[in-house]
Amino acid sequence: MTALSSRIPVAVVGAGTMGAGIAQVAALAGHPVLLHDTRPGAAAQAIAGIGRGLEALVGKGRLDAALAGRAQAALRPADTLEALAGCGLVIEAIVERLDAKTGLFQALETLVAPDCLLATNTSSIPVTAIGAALRRPERLGGLHFFNPAPRMPLVEIVSGLDTGPAVARTLADTAAAWGKTPVMTRSTPGFIVNRVARPFYGEGLRLLQEQALDPATLDHVMRACGGFRMGPCELTDLIGQDVNAAVSHTVWTAFHHAPRFEPSMLQQELVAAGRLGRKSGRGFHDYREGASAPAPRLAAPQPCPRSITLYGDGPLAAALGRRLQAAGHAFEQAAPRDDGRCAQADGAFLYQTDGRTATQRAHELNQPATLLLDLALDPDTAACMPLAAALQCPDAARAAATGLLQAAGFEVAPIGDAPGMVVMRTVAMLVNEAADTVAQGVCSAADVDQAMLLGVNYPIGPLAWCRRIGAGTVGTVLTHLQRSCGERYRPCVALQSAIHSGRPLHDA
Ligand code: NAD
Repeated sequence: MTALSSRIPVAVVGAGTMGAGIAQVAALAGHPVLLHDTRPGAAAQAIAGIGRGLEALVGKGRLDAALAGRAQAALRPADTLEALAGCGLVIEAIVERLDAKTGLFQALETLVAPDCLLATNTSSIPVTAIGAALRRPERLGGLHFFNPAPRMPLVEIVSGLDTGPAVARTLADTAAAWGKTPVMTRSTPGFIVNRVARPFYGEGLRLLQEQALDPATLDHVMRACGGFRMGPCELTDLIGQDVNAAVSHTVWTAFHHAPRFEPSMLQQELVAAGRLGRKSGRGFHDYREGASAPAPRLAAPQPCPRSITLYGDGPLAAALGRRLQAAGHAFEQAAPRDDGRCAQADGAFLYQTDGRTATQRAHELNQPATLLLDLALDPDTAACMPLAAALQCPDAARAAATGLLQAAGFEVAPIGDAPGMVVMRTVAMLVNEAADTVAQGVCSAADVDQAMLLGVNYPIGPLAWCRRIGAGTVGTVLTHLQRSCGERYRPCVALQSAIHSGRPLHDA
């Protein structure tokens, strides 16, 4: 363990949202903390704010009063950079501009001791680029906290080309000693979380643009079927459409306009209209006083079909069987079929999406009554199931498929016939990005999953999700999407290799 001793003073430069949060974390861990900001009075104000926050936590019984008192006493404003000379670690959380950050670190280099560590909380500026301006870039690393820093457990430890391995290790161990979970990443665009999470927003926004469903239904499906804590519309409304669009734009530009990161025109329009989300009163949803809560479009109740057959014991068919049985509905069990059919309800034929549209599959099977089901995080407990019907599907078959799912206890969300549907398309793209990130040596397979669990609260890491449904399934979905929608959906080489070798992705 190489964590900095808590006796060593820590400096935080920039007393805004992130700087104040980081200062609080370091002070609670027992360090003397100096807070500096070029805005007169900002550091003292931030310390007073931290004090009020700590007292509130004590009041709620969530923090020991003595610990809060010690942390408060450990925090001091510093009027000048020179006052930071005796610190063993300086964490920068100032404005997100390369010139400002290099200027600050160049000044610090001349003031602090040779063994003082320098860290930046930048979200998007390469640590390598900041380091290039320094005389000793090996002592600079990224300590990327998430907002709000005191509550979010993840810290990305970012190594630029010149960051010393021992420096990165000490930063990681120190973050761990502060009660955080560090993950190690190279300084590539978006690091881990802001890169791998892009498809969560990007695919949702695309589905809206394709008119597959509306924002309220999208959010509901991602929560009640995909198991995510929030859907992409409510989450980007919370983050701010402008902020989310800016991150997407930065990552897209940094990846030389790779199609999979292409920013959404729909989101650009929201930003242009000033519909920035919660902070402006309106985004995808309406937060103004008196506005009604977003309501998903769900199918009206349909009678249970007269005859139900389930095929094979794949996860979806097996879960449907258990759910029908629990609800007291009879069904027949048949052997698995080569075409992957999972259920028949009267004249309706149901399949899980494989990235082709229902319309294409209906055509290829010469079977107009073809309907598709989405991927659920847990098909035994999911509350909602999206249902996509072929354009040529008769109304009676839509009603029968809906009735079957409702008999099994699902709310049914009828959606447009978009390739890959909603959860499957999003998850396949998350897996692809996670696999590519690991394959490019940005981080380990364990760290990419850990980062997505703790940085954005995903219900399961993308690579663990891939192990659950199989790299073959993900690859098939992406290959079909690529055929109909283009390069954006190309399975990465690591995923292709997992499929061709039969070995698990990154053999975690
Ligand atoms: P903020 O605007 O809330 O605070 C920035 C503070 O830095 C301000 O108080 C400003 O007066 C001060 N400042 C600017 N230039 C300075 C300088 N040269 N020297 C000293 N102080 C200076 O910004 P924030 O949201 O706290 O972001 C700070 C950094 O953290 C940025 O690099 C940002 O990309 C990164 N970050 C932000 C978030 C987030 O969600 N807000 C999350 C992770 C990382």
